[in-house]
Amino acid sequence: MRFMTAEPFRIKMVERVKKTTKAERQQWLKEARYNAFQMKAENVYIDCITDSGTSAMSSEQWSALMLGDESYAGSKSFYKLEESVQDIFGMQFVQPTHQGRAADYIMARIYAKPGKYAIGNMHFDTFRGNAEVIGALAVDYVDDIGKDTASPPHPFKGNIDLKKMEKLISEKGAENISVVIITVTCNNNGGQPVSMQNIREVSALAKKHNIPVVIDAARLAENAYFIKQREEGYENKTIKEITREMFSYCETATMSSKKDGLVNIGGLFVTRNDEVLKVAQQLAIVHEGFITYGGLAGRDLEALAVGLQEGVDEQYLEYRINQVKYLGDRLKEKGVPIIEPTGGHGVYVDGRRFFPHIPQSEFPSQRLVVALYEEAGVRAVEIGACAFGAKDPLTGEDIFPEVEVMRIAVSRRVYTNSHMDVIANALGEIYQKREQYRGMKLVYEGPITSLRHFTAGFELFPQTNAVTIEV
Ligand SMILES: *Cc1c(COP(=O)(O)O)cnc(C)c1O
Repeated sequence: MRFMTAEPFRIKMVERVKKTTKAERQQWLKEARYNAFQMKAENVYIDCITDSGTSAMSSEQWSALMLGDESYAGSKSFYKLEESVQDIFGMQFVQPTHQGRAADYIMARIYAKPGKYAIGNMHFDTFRGNAEVIGALAVDYVDDIGKDTASPPHPFKGNIDLKKMEKLISEKGAENISVVIITVTCNNNGGQPVSMQNIREVSALAKKHNIPVVIDAARLAENAYFIKQREEGYENKTIKEITREMFSYCETATMSSKKDGLVNIGGLFVTRNDEVLKVAQQLAIVHEGFITYGGLAGRDLEALAVGLQEGVDEQYLEYRINQVKYLGDRLKEKGVPIIEPTGGHGVYVDGRRFFPHIPQSEFPSQRLVVALYEEAGVRAVEIGACAFGAKDPLTGEDIFPEVEVMRIAVSRRVYTNSHMDVIANALGEIYQKREQYRGMKLVYEGPITSLRHFTAGFELFPQTNAVTIEV
């Protein structure tokens, strides 16, 4: 076993990717107004903008597609999916949705209340958007160590701070907190896991005050693998035993199956509460489709039923987590500042430590996204001043987020470690000449600040001394 460290699969079909010149990339950047979301994917060599919906499906999944039962009601494929979900979640009721955000929407409609608090470690932006529309107050109570991108390694930087939670309950009264949402893994601060102990304690505290607990489970398998690796008492448990215990502490779970479901589209709303299920089904019929397909085709349900099982396979998870770690280790060797330890689905480069001379108002992490594409055709994404910046509703002044990073998301079963080397080498060279870079100016943003990163336009402040690197 010691020597068997390569991918637990072989490649049956390939997709060509294009190598481009630096001059071409500079032109495309200009046309996209320096916004990675506005670039054409065909001009990207290695695409790390997201790990969502980008997984490679297995031969078993492709063959399952052919079994898709496209019946409107009571499709055979639904029952296969239901069984697969029950097996992993240990919960009875399953409502598929077309994406995770649709499950978030249903969940927000049930659990978020106007003027009441929704406590989370770090809420995912689509839930936050839904909560804001409803008028709920979404608060992020991740442990302080998880908010500091320069903090020393800690096994569970996604944990909820129980003291903050207790304080809010005693100050505002439990009746003013409508839900606690635990996102596993915690996406916004590095794909950092939440420990079983924390899930158990958060749940016990919530239960004491009659507050329902929801798990946002997009990366449930990666979280379970970290628990197995890092938490005492779990080293000999199977991944499924761990996932079932995780969900035993919540009433409802939502999932974007575009992550650990290893499919390209789909979502899930899962609950053990039959009253909640009834409401969820009604909302699904209005917004998604009939309850046994929820906005997906029968073939999608088939692929997901198989993908969920492949996602909790331990050999797969070992490869997956170690590929991300491999990229993190190569970057550390070159001195590039990252969130440590590396999390489940990507490496997060600390924009402020990388470019200490660029103030947050000039978008250091976005500048790094632009530099990485310019040098190597690699597309990453900013999670920082642009994506999570806000405006003070009273003064109109900019409020900057605590986390200021560039996320290099690693798609599942898609790239090899040679691709990881390209990314690490390019960032290493940019780091060498980091003092030459200057910041950026936001020249266009849409009306909804929390969604501005998708359509924002930028200009670059001129570089002090442009040097060309051939990649
Ligand atoms: C991706 C994601 C969502 C939203 O899911 P989509 O499938 O993109 O709509 C919600 N929560 C978390 C934690 C996610 O990672």
